[in-house]
Amino acid sequence: MSESQSYRINIAIDGPAGAGKSTVARKVARALQYIYVDTGAMYRAVTLKVLESGLSTEDDISVGSLANALDIVLLPGAESQLVHVNGVDVTTQLRSLEINRNVSYVARLGSVRTRMAELQRRMALEKGVVMDGRDIGTHVLPDAELKVFLTATPKERAQRRFLELDPEAGITLDQLEKEITERDRLDQEREIAPLLQAPDARLIDSTGRTVDEVAEEIVQWGLAATRTILAEEK
Ligand code: C5P
Repeated sequence: MSESQSYRINIAIDGPAGAGKSTVARKVARALQYIYVDTGAMYRAVTLKVLESGLSTEDDISVGSLANALDIVLLPGAESQLVHVNGVDVTTQLRSLEINRNVSYVARLGSVRTRMAELQRRMALEKGVVMDGRDIGTHVLPDAELKVFLTATPKERAQRRFLELDPEAGITLDQLEKEITERDRLDQEREIAPLLQAPDARLIDSTGRTVDEVAEEIVQWGLAATRTILAEEK
């Protein structure tokens, strides 16, 4: 293993819904032998518990106490990352339309964001993490050595999410595009840690590009960033 492969940095990948962040981030993590952290899954897990408990998504204090009491563990899985909440695997329940429709309301609560950011920073302490989300480069890991903002046209993003959904879900591609655009609006306009490209993030538009191409570009940037740091330290 070369020096630039054994020295570890943190990589932040932010962007709107369906831009391909998780698929790309997982590939980058595999190529560099880093740990992948899907922060959207953490907000989805909290939303699942909020919906199960019948709490209002407006109730910052009660939802915050619920979030603080949750033990959220991310584990590597064969296909995707597994999410365990209080010891139970909830992975397959996190991508439903109901969660899609509520998650941005839960994610705008200050109490929830504080808790999630704390857990996420802890996961990145040892470095060697590829973390994807909305506010990773701007808030959670502002010192990440490589920041990427990944986007694609709303149509392409809707098409990607459409393929992920159960055909029985009962939603058309047009409806899904509207819902994704609305979720992005909520994420961009919220007061705390909105979806935003960090000034020092590199922008990639993944429209019409393959996951492999985009992932490879980020891996090369990661290796280059690592070489620069090592050269500066010498
Ligand atoms: O990435 P994914 O679509 O699974 O994220 C679900 C939702 O979680 C986002 O629409 C956003 O409301 C919230 N989120 C966030 N901050 C992050 C990651 C996700 O607010 N870092």
